Amino acid sequence: MRFRTTVLTTAAALAVVALAGCAASGANGAGPGKSWARDLPVTRLTPLGHEDGFVPEGGGLDPTDDVPALSELEPDLLAAVRAAAEAALEEAGIEVLVTSGWRSERYQRYLLESAVQVYGTEEEAARWVASPEDSSHVTGSAVDVGRTDAAYWFVEHGARFGLCQTYANEVWHYELTVEPGRTCPAPLEDASAG
Ligand SMILES: [Zn+2]
Repeated sequence: MRFRTTVLTTAAALAVVALAGCAASGANGAGPGKSWARDLPVTRLTPLGHEDGFVPEGGGLDPTDDVPALSELEPDLLAAVRAAAEAALEEAGIEVLVTSGWRSERYQRYLLESAVQVYGTEEEAARWVASPEDSSHVTGSAVDVGRTDAAYWFVEHGARFGLCQTYANEVWHYELTVEPGRTCPAPLEDASAG
């Protein structure tokens, strides 16, 4: 319930930003399904919501939640994350949250646009946020886990469930990479590598 409130609050804030950014442009009614909207900055479209897999910054999902961010993941990945979360709680008392799972293309574009603003250049942003075409979140084959103690539990135990850290600079990002119980390959340097 707390999550839902946060989403609505954040969605309302995004709506304000979107309206402020395009008050005169007549963008009302721009929806994710409108192909002409693809080239507009995401901030001028309708607010991101559950249907985009949106998880507000600082938020997190219980891995057992039934929302698109989780239900749109590859089934094997979701099962592995749920099993790992159960083990983390049982063995270490660590509560695992999914801070990001499946994302719609426009959600990924929004994150990339935001990262370019934060990091200044597309090149630097690409070290942290993949494009919608390249993102394993968009294909449903990656999850970000939190908080910090949970991410480090995954570093140590994720391989038991086939879950491996993909990038050295993202201790929270896991993909189903190996057969359960095998050793994970060394992480790539960052999201722009490989
Ligand atoms: Zn990630």
